Amino acid sequence: MKKVVKFGGSSLADAAQFKKVAAIIRDDPTRLYVVPSAPGKRFSGDEKVTDLLYRCYDKAAAGEDFRPTLSMIRGRYDDIIVGLGLKNFTLEPDFAEIEKSLAENPERDYTASRGEYLNSKIMAEFIGFEFVDAADVVVFDEDGGLSLRRTNKAMANRLQNLEHVVIPGFYGRGVDGKIKTFSRGGSDITGSIVAGAMKVDVYENWTDVSGFLVADPRIVENPVAINTITYRELRELSYMGAAVLHEDAIFPVRRSGIPINIRNTNRPEDKGTWIVESTAQKSGYTITGIAGKKGFCAVLISKAMMNSEIGFGRKVLQAFEENNISFEHMPSGIDTMTIVVHEDEFLHKEQKVVSAIHRLASPDSVEIESDLALIAIVGRGMKSMRGTAGRIFAALAHAHVNVRMIDQGSSELNIIVGVENRDFETAIRAIYDIFVTTTL
Ligand code: ASP
Repeated sequence: MKKVVKFGGSSLADAAQFKKVAAIIRDDPTRLYVVPSAPGKRFSGDEKVTDLLYRCYDKAAAGEDFRPTLSMIRGRYDDIIVGLGLKNFTLEPDFAEIEKSLAENPERDYTASRGEYLNSKIMAEFIGFEFVDAADVVVFDEDGGLSLRRTNKAMANRLQNLEHVVIPGFYGRGVDGKIKTFSRGGSDITGSIVAGAMKVDVYENWTDVSGFLVADPRIVENPVAINTITYRELRELSYMGAAVLHEDAIFPVRRSGIPINIRNTNRPEDKGTWIVESTAQKSGYTITGIAGKKGFCAVLISKAMMNSEIGFGRKVLQAFEENNISFEHMPSGIDTMTIVVHEDEFLHKEQKVVSAIHRLASPDSVEIESDLALIAIVGRGMKSMRGTAGRIFAALAHAHVNVRMIDQGSSELNIIVGVENRDFETAIRAIYDIFVTTTL
């Protein structure tokens, strides 16, 4: 049994958090590969080290004095080193190098990556694991994307004879030899890459929540946690706004069928959420999760005998494509079809799109409705349960929410309902209550 353990910024924000992390690693001898983030916020209103590093870079690039910001960063690391009681350990030469680079030739990605780099050096020293620089094992290709093939090879080669390793998250090296970072939150991706390359059994992703919740806690009070979720369900929910894990972190482990276990550093006794390829576990509530977003528009196109006109849909979609707008959903009736789009992508181009639809498809009418919110009710258990849709619509009717649109994907993994923006929160609470609260 081998595990990768990735720790997020809040799990490594200060010495006390480092100690919790070390206890977690020591508690299970199969936790072999450790991927740390940079120190995150210690309290609300605090700043993440990565944000401070970006600020250093911005100042250096603008020819301003970056040194006061760099000393704040040094202060954060010094506190950790002192708090952990690490003797004969110093990041002095590393800071000298960072300062030199900022003064002489500031590079954005290199600067940002130092948060993870320094934190990992401390972690390796503290727990007695070997430090392996991500720049030597995570490879980006010519067009700037991750080269999974080269990365897997480099990683397997470098780690083959090492038993316990700390590898910084968030960055790697491009073919030009320069340090390159992933997008924000990218240490999740590094964890997943290490897991895939080393063919581990589990990728544990330690954060400050006990996994995914069935609904957004800002809308529903104390929502229950999700025990098991499939990659596909997760994709549907994250697309609709639920965020715990970086989206790109799924791919490397999914290919190798490695499950991800989201865990809470502050409550290691909680089992967290398992993200898996496929499962026979039932969710207990019919649905797995609810997520949604506000700010959509619906474009309603009507034309008599539309259903028998071959190519009508293509012509309508061409009008959106010509204007470089991607559409979200496309529910249709016999003589009508509706295209749902993001308001902010669409509003400034709406008249161009409408005239293109007229030019290409000669409809009878085109109407636009705005202020639409979409809610996805996701659950692998829905297809084998009768009455799920009925329960959703009864709950919404009961809560006086008017449903403006319904779309059920052919996978029967989710049902999307469109409601007015102002009914968004009420609708989510009503759906949560009917599936979860009433069964508790
Ligand atoms: N430290 C980076 C960030 O703040 C990457 C990460 O934490 O995953 O985005």
